[in-house]
Amino acid sequence: MATKRTQIAYRCPDCATATVGFLGGLGAVSDMLRLKCACGESALDIKKQTDGKVSLSVPCVYCKSNHSFVVSPEIMRREELTRFSCPYSGMGIAFIGDEDEVAHEVESSAEELARIMTSLEAEDVSDIQPQDVGEDSMPPDPAIYDTLNFVLRDLEAEGAVKCPCEMGEYDLRFTDDGMQVWCKNCGATYDFYARSVSVAEEYLTIDSITLK
Ligand SMILES: [Zn+2]
Ligand SMILES: [Zn+2]
Ligand SMILES: [Zn+2]
Repeated sequence: MATKRTQIAYRCPDCATATVGFLGGLGAVSDMLRLKCACGESALDIKKQTDGKVSLSVPCVYCKSNHSFVVSPEIMRREELTRFSCPYSGMGIAFIGDEDEVAHEVESSAEELARIMTSLEAEDVSDIQPQDVGEDSMPPDPAIYDTLNFVLRDLEAEGAVKCPCEMGEYDLRFTDDGMQVWCKNCGATYDFYARSVSVAEEYLTIDSITLK
């Protein structure tokens, strides 16, 4: 059986095209990988940090800016699909997985985008303005999201996220109290009570979380 090659995909905020690339380039030679849209207006960057973690800078169709994610390198080698979401709109903006899964996600994210554009009466992706999808007030500190997303993805990679359905696909969203992990399969949730980065960092030491 041929070995599956891990792919990564994102959608360009400028021309709405999905760009797909292979993740093989994170070897010893180059610890940075750039995936550029053919239109030249956006790029997704992946960097290996000195602490061994991997940081991603992903263009967001909805916010028209890049979101950063810090993940454990295990994610690059996982069997399951990893989905990175815009913390403000909750929509998937980047996907890592095998070719079939990534193609499937790219397709469903196009449908999701079409629905959003219809609801906003936008004719073109450039008609989507950040204020349409963001909150009215000041957005929460993205560093809180970065930290808790790292906690979640790390626990997930270790199989330490427990969910009643036992086959959850997890995502994070902002709440009034901090952030909430929710299962896209059964709807169970877990709350991180963290309204500041320092409180969010306290969660770095937890061993497991159980969604209810
Ligand atoms: Zn483009
Ligand atoms: Zn966004
Ligand atoms: Zn579940």
